[in-house]
Amino acid sequence: MSDIPGSALILGGGIMGLSAAWAVARQGTAVRLVEQDPIPNPRGASHDHHRLIRHAYGPSLAYLRMVEAAHGAWDLLWAELGERLMVDADVLALASSPGGWLAESRAALRAEGHAVQDLGPAELARRFPALSPDGIADAFLAGRGGVLLADRILAALLRRCLALGVTVERARAAAVDPGHARLRLADGTWRKAELLLVAAGPWAPRLLPGLAGRVAASRQVTVFLEPPPGAREAWAAMPMLLDLSESGGFYLVPPVAGTPAKIGDHRFSCQGDAEDDRAATPAEAAAILALARPRLRDLGACRVLGARACYYEVEPRERILLEPLGDRAWVLTGTSGHGFKFGPLLGLGLARAMAAPALRAGLPGWAAGEAPPPAGLLPAA
Ligand SMILES: Cc1cc2nc3c(=O)[nH]c(=O)nc-3n(C[C@H](O)[C@H](O)[C@H](O)COP(=O)(O)OP(=O)(O)OC[C@H]3O[C@@H](n4cnc5c(N)ncnc54)[C@H](O)[C@@H]3O)c2cc1C
Repeated sequence: MSDIPGSALILGGGIMGLSAAWAVARQGTAVRLVEQDPIPNPRGASHDHHRLIRHAYGPSLAYLRMVEAAHGAWDLLWAELGERLMVDADVLALASSPGGWLAESRAALRAEGHAVQDLGPAELARRFPALSPDGIADAFLAGRGGVLLADRILAALLRRCLALGVTVERARAAAVDPGHARLRLADGTWRKAELLLVAAGPWAPRLLPGLAGRVAASRQVTVFLEPPPGAREAWAAMPMLLDLSESGGFYLVPPVAGTPAKIGDHRFSCQGDAEDDRAATPAEAAAILALARPRLRDLGACRVLGARACYYEVEPRERILLEPLGDRAWVLTGTSGHGFKFGPLLGLGLARAMAAPALRAGLPGWAAGEAPPPAGLLPAA
C-alpha cells in the first residue's frame, strides 16, 4: 500500500504554502489550500518584485549546500512552468571592517569549491562606478546567484497548483487543531485532511501559541528606486549588493526584468505584528536611504518610487522550522529574511517525506541547517 496521503490541507498561500501544495499535489494527493487574502498576497512575506538567491551563508555549510539543492528545485519548477522566473546575478559582498560574516562566507564558499574573487578599492571603483569604495575594508564577488521574480513566481505557482487540481479556498482560519489535522474557519465550519501543513508566515505565532518565544514578527522596510536617467542598463547589470558593515549594512537588488531597484536593511526590527499596516513612514524610508547613501554615488539622482513595510517571522538564529505538530500536522515557519529561495526545495522535501515516513525524523534538522538531508530525501545530483 502506498504511504502517499490521500488528502492534504495547507494553511497559507505564500511561497511556502504554494510550494508545498505544488509538491504534494504532483505526487497525487488531493490538496486544499486555505488563504485569507488574494494570491499573491500584498500583506504576505513573499510579496514583492524580487527575492535573492545566493550561496554566501556566513559559516553555515549546511545552508550553503542547501542553496545548491534549492537551485535544482527551482530548475524543476521552471521546467514545469515553462518559464524561468529568475535573472542570474553575481553577489558583491562588502564590509567596513575585516572578519565577520563576510570572511566566514568567503572561507565557506572556497571550502566548497565556489569561485570567489577578492576586490580591493581600486578594482571596486573600476568595475562598479556606481559604488563609492570609501571606507570599504573588504569585498568579494561570487557568482551563481540570482534575482527571483517573487510575485511572478507566486502567480505562476498558483496557476500550476490549479492545473494540478489543488482547491484554493479564500477564507480565514480562526483555529488550528493539529491533533485532527483540521482548521476551523472564521465562519465556524471545519476543513480537514489526512495531513495538515501550517505555512502562515508572520501570522504563525498568532495561530500556534507554542511558537511564542521561538519566532517573532518583524517589520522590515524596503525602498524602491528608479536609477538615474540613462543609467538603468548599467544598474541592471550590477551584482546584488550585500553591505555587511556593522554600522548599518543594507542590500541592493538591481533593477532587472523591468523591476525597480530596491534597497533594504539586513537588521531585524523585531517590532510589530502581521496585522499591522504595510505603509512605510517617511522616517522609515529616510533611514533606509541613509544606510545606502555612503555607498551609492548616484543615490541622490535616483527617483524614489515608494517604500513599504513587509513582515516576516524571525527565528533568533535564522533557523527554518519544519516541525511535526503531532502525527498528522506540520508547521513551516521561522523563514526570517532568507526563506524564499528554499520554498520549492522545502515543499519537495516535505512531499517526499510524507510519502516515505522513515524520512520524516530528519526533516527538522535539515530545514534548520543543522544536519544534512536524510538519505533519499533529495534526488541524487
Ligand atoms: C523585505 C523582505 C526581504 C526578503 N528577502 C529575501 C531574500 O532576498 N531571499 C530569500 O530567500 N528570502 C527573503 N525573504 C524571506 C522570504 O520572503 C520569506 O521567508 C517567505 O516569503 C515566507 O513565505 P511564507 O509562505 O512562509 O509566508 P507568507 O508569504 O507571509 O505567506 C503566509 C500566508 O498565510 C496566510 N495566512 C496567515 N494566517 C492565515 C489565516 N489565519 N487564515 C488564512 N490565511 C492565513 C497569509 O495571508 C499569507 O498569505 C525576505 C522577506 C522580506 C519581508
